[in-house]
Amino acid sequence: MKPIVAIVGRPNVGKSTLFNKLVGDRVAIVDDQPGVTRDRLYRETEWCGTEFVLVDTGGLEPRNNDFMMSKIKQQAEVAMNEADVIMFIVDAKAGVTALDEEVAYILRKKNKPVILCVNKVDDFLAQQDDLYDFWSLGFEHLMPISAEHKSNLGDMLDVITENI
Ligand code: GDP
Ligand code: MG
Repeated sequence: MKPIVAIVGRPNVGKSTLFNKLVGDRVAIVDDQPGVTRDRLYRETEWCGTEFVLVDTGGLEPRNNDFMMSKIKQQAEVAMNEADVIMFIVDAKAGVTALDEEVAYILRKKNKPVILCVNKVDDFLAQQDDLYDFWSLGFEHLMPISAEHKSNLGDMLDVITENI
């Protein structure tokens, strides 16, 4: 069985955009509004000879806040159980949100490697000061990336494959 790398995080942080860039396909639906991603999407991919299965965990992402919270927590729990490595995606433009903290709490509970990917860093020099707050989520690995511009994805994949 190939190792599983799961992409988790609250709606609209760019999980599906990242998934599509990494698998080189437009299989995951990208949208400005939460609520469109199919439940879970699996694709095989590789980086520098390391093969793995990438999972996009969009889920139903309903608009009702309480229900959304429980759904995201559930996604994080499933990812935690099935994945070998977790890519936890947050949004540099939005900063740390309460939902990010909830997901982080779940992810910190188990002993699996978590790579915190701070997405939407489209302009690193202009945005680097915005990154510090994300260390408060308590993860060892923090990678600033831009899924849309494909920035820093190679360095991020190096860290992921080192932790598989
Ligand atoms: P998901 O709900 O986490 O799967 O997020 P999506 O992939 O559907 O993306 C939500 C929105 O963020 C879309 O409008 C994307 O175009 C946008 N987005 C994704 N990645 C980036 C990025 O690197 N930079 C910027 N500026 N926007 C992004
Ligand atoms: Mg999605």
